[in-house]
Amino acid sequence: MFNRVAFVTGASRGIGRAIALSLCRSGFDIVVASPEIEKNEEVAEEIRACSGEAMTVNLDVTSAESVKTAFAKALADKTRIDVLVNNAGITRDGLAVRMKPNDWDLVMQINLDGAFRCCQAVLPTMMRNRWGRIVNIASVVGQAGSAGQANYAASKAGLIGLTKALAQEMASRNITVNAVAPGYIDTDMTKVLPEDVRAKILAAVPLGRMGKPEDIANAVKFLAGEDAAYITGQVLAVNGGMYM
Ligand code: NDP
Repeated sequence: MFNRVAFVTGASRGIGRAIALSLCRSGFDIVVASPEIEKNEEVAEEIRACSGEAMTVNLDVTSAESVKTAFAKALADKTRIDVLVNNAGITRDGLAVRMKPNDWDLVMQINLDGAFRCCQAVLPTMMRNRWGRIVNIASVVGQAGSAGQANYAASKAGLIGLTKALAQEMASRNITVNAVAPGYIDTDMTKVLPEDVRAKILAAVPLGRMGKPEDIANAVKFLAGEDAAYITGQVLAVNGGMYM
């Protein structure tokens, strides 16, 4: 019996790292993919330390060439990719009226275009194997909107649309496509928020705490596994109840 292979983008830290570690504990071989090879190697070492299999690839999802090379390398080494987790993402917050074109473009290029590119790169192998799981990491902001995050909200709402369209296209090939929409999670992305903003967000979370990267990883692990075989085109909110 072979191990299934999971390719995780933005796996160098935060939620992506937690997803990589969690999937490896569930028996997946992991491809750790993000722009900086040294950071990828650190995560791969953590995986190997708990007896998991990991390889690393340099991946900048804004570059079609980088995506092509990264998936080719992973496939040359592993021969298959069964799970793709589109987790790479950034914020460039600011009010829409003053938002710089570059801040709009970069967020769209990484969060939405990048995810689409990775889907395109992985689908042929999943279609051949007639088995695949794609999990897109969206956001509560893509569901509810958020002042100061027009670019980010649009990118994540777009990712939810992409999820549903691909789910319909790929169902006949036994490939499921779902999204996880995290709420307010304790990572580098949220550490930069001013204290008053953090307090305000936290006050809107019925469960009364920030999420941990592992809370998101648990949902991804479920959607990537056999128990989720009949679930596709869904958005699983993991947000402590902050948006229902
Ligand atoms: P972090 O900022 O901690 O990590 C972002 C990851 O994305 C890093 O691995 C980073 O690599 C990688 N990355 C950035 N740019 C690129 C690129 N061009 N190509 C490939 N990888 C890239 O973020 P989080 O862990 O907090 O977020 C992970 C995902 O979860 C994102 O999609 C985010 O939008 C989403 N999310 C997060 C929430 C939160 O509260 N934290 C809430 C809702 C959604 P490097 O280390 O090299 O910079």
